Amino acid sequence: MTPDEVKYDVVVVGGGIAGQEAALNLANSDQQVLLVEKDLSIGGHMIHLSKVFPTLDCGACITTPKMSETVRHPNIRVSTFSEFTEIERLSDGTFTGLLTRHPKYVIEKDCTGCQDCEDACPVVVKDQYQYGLVGRKAAYVPFSISNPRVAAIDIENCILCGACERACPADAIDFTQKIEKTKVSAGTVIIATGFNLFDPDVIEKYGLGKHRNVITSMQMERQLVPTRPYNNVLRPKDGKMPDNIAYVLCVGSRDQTLGNPICSQVCCMYSAKQGQLLMGALPMADVTIYYLHIRAFGKGFEEFYQQSIGMGVEYVKGKVGTIDEKENGDLVLRYEDIREGSIKEATHDLVVLSVGMLANPEAGTLFMNNALELDEFGYIRQVDMLRNPASTNIEGVFVAGTASGPMDIPDSIASSGAAAAEALSYLKRKS
Ligand SMILES: Cc1cc2nc3c(=O)[nH]c(=O)nc-3n(C[C@H](O)[C@H](O)[C@H](O)COP(=O)(O)OP(=O)(O)OC[C@H]3O[C@@H](n4cnc5c(N)ncnc54)[C@H](O)[C@@H]3O)c2cc1C
Ligand code: SF4
Ligand code: SF4
Repeated sequence: MTPDEVKYDVVVVGGGIAGQEAALNLANSDQQVLLVEKDLSIGGHMIHLSKVFPTLDCGACITTPKMSETVRHPNIRVSTFSEFTEIERLSDGTFTGLLTRHPKYVIEKDCTGCQDCEDACPVVVKDQYQYGLVGRKAAYVPFSISNPRVAAIDIENCILCGACERACPADAIDFTQKIEKTKVSAGTVIIATGFNLFDPDVIEKYGLGKHRNVITSMQMERQLVPTRPYNNVLRPKDGKMPDNIAYVLCVGSRDQTLGNPICSQVCCMYSAKQGQLLMGALPMADVTIYYLHIRAFGKGFEEFYQQSIGMGVEYVKGKVGTIDEKENGDLVLRYEDIREGSIKEATHDLVVLSVGMLANPEAGTLFMNNALELDEFGYIRQVDMLRNPASTNIEGVFVAGTASGPMDIPDSIASSGAAAAEALSYLKRKS
């Protein structure tokens, strides 16, 4: 170890539900943990969900206490807007790597999250945390329940007018901040870099981006949460309350032509969930789910699916070919009715594309010489899936959550427990 290196027992890369769970397990076993998150806040995809299947618990109510515990834990240091790269296993079985912290142009310890900078900033761009449904400023607190709840300046869109600097009562804006690089050594590494959402823009026949009343399932999650952008479920094009909503399942999943032949494991169930939540939010609305097969394989899932039918969600076994927009913004779905073997058309006033999960390709680039092996779908390869599902091809490196393949929250948490236990055992063996 060189004198300027910082030493931890464990580095966890990725601060979604899986990374937080692994970090907390290890920190509670007296290990010193560095949790590296590339985004402005920890929380991953889960912090943006509404209620979660199969229990219909409020996602944020589960995630926010865990985020607070992670950030405040005396044995965990959280580094947001950061990367951990150039990771290398040394001959003694320990690891080194480079921690890069990108500038937020805000002094984290001084920022109170008051959002005065946001009010003053004249620049509006699409809000990535509301999945593009509304705008945000170039000076912004990422989202209301972010952790840390600290502002950042989106320097790519900033016009350097200085309004945020003048408005900040804490003098926390600092445009002189630079990238910080620190050498880190660790006894073991857990990769929890999660998944990417499939981008349905590539399926032109569904018209996302062109037909404004075609939205993704993540945009519907945002419309169903208490911190929702419109304070109700509305059609983006004209603000009308929809009363005849369609879901198209398997968008980007189980499709060889799109290079992703595998099942995303969560879309059937989250669509059944959203259908139930819509029955509550819009009691007069019809919800129709167009599906190829329903995969309700987990504990309580079949009952959850049946519950959605009982609440009035209609399931049509059909493959949707095209979606066309009428002048009034309604959408015409042309689909193959698989039971009847005929081509049909149906009109809906809002269409939700149930997008699948894709591997996050960054996982493969974190190690020197891309030493971490991926499987044929780009997820981290589990070399001993039956006996030790957390192990990778590098001894002492473990995988947690969806970085190893599509899975839901309960499975992500279980896999993080396994990764933490394996990491602890590795540390004990090497000490
Ligand atoms: C629309 C939708 C609805 C869903 N609804 C449900 C539900 O109701 N119930 C359920 O059980 N599951 C649901 N899921 C699945 C659930 O979102 C996942 O199981 C869960 O979020 C996986 O957590 P994770 O930590 O593995 O990954 P993620 O949530 O993707 O977290 C990964 C984290 O790693 C960070 N990261 C990525 N790359 C790097 C890097 N190079 N360096 C540092 N950090 C990095 C990311 O910024 C992110 O914070 C849903 C999924 C979708 C898409
Ligand atoms: S300096 Fe940039 S971030 Fe600050 S108010 Fe002006 S445009 Fe917004
Ligand atoms: S940077 Fe200043 S104005 Fe902006 S949220 Fe932080 S304390 Fe408030």
